[in-house]
Amino acid sequence: MITIDFVYALALFSGGALICLFGIWCLARQQQKKEMFLNPRFIWFCAVCTYSYINTKDEAISLCPRCGSYNRK
Ligand SMILES: [Zn+2]
Repeated sequence: MITIDFVYALALFSGGALICLFGIWCLARQQQKKEMFLNPRFIWFCAVCTYSYINTKDEAISLCPRCGSYNRK
């Protein structure tokens, strides 16, 4: 039987958990990036108050959530 120190086992376990968490975090980040990259046409830029926002509903004209002015693509 292999004998390992309790501290060593604990370090190994916590290290594995950390690696798992890091992997999940990386995957989530990649997915978020992909979503952002797929929808560049939903990102609007207000010409009045220079506010950048996301609007997925409108295609041609969008209402700025900050100053309320209409913006065209
Ligand atoms: Zn605005």
